[in-house]
Amino acid sequence: MASGKINVSVENIFPLIKKFLYNDHEIFLRELVSNATDATLKLKHLTSIGEAKVEYGNPIIEVKIDKEGKKLHIIDQGLGMTSDEVEKYINQVAFSGAEEFLEKYKDSAKDSGIIGHFGLGFYSAFMVAEKVELITKSYKDEPAAHWTCDGSPEFTLIPSDKTTRGTEIILHIAEDSLDFLEEYKIKELLNKYNKFMPIAIKFGTKKQSLPKPEDAADDYVAEEIEVDNIINNPNPAWTKQPADLTDEDYKTFYHELYPMQFEEPLFNIHLNVDYPFNLTGILYFPKMSNDMQMQKDKIQMYQNQVFVTDNVEGIVPEFLGMLKGVIDSPDIPLNVSRSGLQADSNVKKISNYITRKVADKLKALFTENREDFEKKWNDIKIVLEYGMLSEPKFYEKAGSFILYPTVDNKYYILNELKEAIKDNQTDKNGKLVVLYASNKDAQHSYIAAAKDKGYQVLLLDSPIISHLIQKLEGDNENLTFVRVDGDSIEKLIEKDEVQISKLSDDETEKLKTVLETLVPKPTYNVQLEAMDSNASPFIITQPEFMRRMKEMSQSGGGGMFGMGNMPEMYNLVVNSNSELATTILNTTDKSTQEHLVKQALDLAKISQGLLKGEDLTAFVKRSFELIK
Ligand code: ADP
Ligand code: MG
Repeated sequence: MASGKINVSVENIFPLIKKFLYNDHEIFLRELVSNATDATLKLKHLTSIGEAKVEYGNPIIEVKIDKEGKKLHIIDQGLGMTSDEVEKYINQVAFSGAEEFLEKYKDSAKDSGIIGHFGLGFYSAFMVAEKVELITKSYKDEPAAHWTCDGSPEFTLIPSDKTTRGTEIILHIAEDSLDFLEEYKIKELLNKYNKFMPIAIKFGTKKQSLPKPEDAADDYVAEEIEVDNIINNPNPAWTKQPADLTDEDYKTFYHELYPMQFEEPLFNIHLNVDYPFNLTGILYFPKMSNDMQMQKDKIQMYQNQVFVTDNVEGIVPEFLGMLKGVIDSPDIPLNVSRSGLQADSNVKKISNYITRKVADKLKALFTENREDFEKKWNDIKIVLEYGMLSEPKFYEKAGSFILYPTVDNKYYILNELKEAIKDNQTDKNGKLVVLYASNKDAQHSYIAAAKDKGYQVLLLDSPIISHLIQKLEGDNENLTFVRVDGDSIEKLIEKDEVQISKLSDDETEKLKTVLETLVPKPTYNVQLEAMDSNASPFIITQPEFMRRMKEMSQSGGGGMFGMGNMPEMYNLVVNSNSELATTILNTTDKSTQEHLVKQALDLAKISQGLLKGEDLTAFVKRSFELIK
């Protein structure tokens, strides 16, 4: 039997790296700046533990374009490499020095923020360069080294006369990648990936005015000097402790993150865990708007302050997708597919943590300043209601802060609502009846009728509300939600006093027959009801169940039960105790009777917003005739 090691030849692997390592060629810059950052952070660590006896100083990273020479330089003042180290770290593809460093300094360096992982980042340079040079001088007292490779597996390694500590990478940009010599392009990339990296990054210079001296003359012109243009903020807000940040700091950071966004966020949630996974970040609840910019501004994901992606699907629970902000975690495996990501137990834990944290924050906001929370309700309700529907863990916690506003801007939580209606609003089965409206104007007459009786009417107007109501009823057996126009108030809510019908059974029967012949069928189903004599004579209602099913099939659920195409069907509730009912019954002239019913039906339709177009025009014309 023979055993051995499969030898993956660099010759085979090289073109592969070049083409397929990353589908996004632009990430080469992120990788090289990350390596420069790592090299600097390593030196910082080694000096801090006394292993490197050199001055750490104030190192920066510089990115420089040489357009004529078709070269791009990335220069750092980090720990550098000796010739031997170049052999080891650079010539061995897929050998990660970052991982080796972390392994070696396991205990002391675990929070040092080192980025590298896979040992492939450096080679991403060949995605855009036909030749790469690396000139490096170690912090150790050894001569500098100069490595050159033109993309074939052959390389040269010679001594160099570089005297300053650190590494310079020179990319000879390939003909098909000349874009990367454009200043705007590099600026854009640095801004996208490196904006919050922990070591200062210089890209060019900028003019800066000197401060005006005390004794300056009136016509003093500020003197300008050239200074380094540092493109990043090495200490972004999320890396700080919440106790060290003011509301203003959080807002400032929001605008730093989204420079094109002018709205202020409503509030923020600072995330901070280190066990069992590491995660920091700040999430913002934005003011909901249809603003295009709003949709462009997504939650950004970082690893050790390096931007990775703004596709946080699977990591942030779906219902929080509309939130803004950043999360930073070195513990999210990004080399796996999206579906693999969802199966990863760390990722699931992160997602659950975020849900919990958001719920806790909302609870705290509600408890600490309820009035303010109520003011924000309209802007946050969609997210929270969606969360209740989609995330059981959120639903469990949400009961204590989800608000149910009334049409008069009073806000209840569910328990308070139950308490408020328990004596006055029960149906014939003893269930509590929650009356609600979805539109204050459109359902005005129904709301007024309910309020007349002293009932509470909620205003629930989110597009997904029927789904949520369905769920709430499922979990609260003694609760039933009915929209104010779902049935006549009299029928909905059980009252002690019974209304006596003024009409005899025969008369009622006769009136019903008259109405049924005059009212269009099957759109209107006539129901006679003995109500208070001053209640509306004609009321159009739409059974709660029917309407809700229809709504649910329209807002997701894709034509559930085939209800999407159901014709509209209504009840026409006629108050048999009303004067109009008696008049209709006693009118012997058929055409007058027809006129009365038609006019009354149109009035009821107006109340329900159903009278439109030709019918409305005819109604108006007829009404003018009447008052002529
Ligand atoms: P990784 O960063 O995942 O370790 P890379 O391919 O990006 O893998 O880099 C390989 C190794 O080369 C690094 O781990 C590091 O040891 C070395 N290296 C790369 N760039 C530099 C640099 N600018 N300064 C010092 N060492 C570097
Ligand atoms: Mg790297």
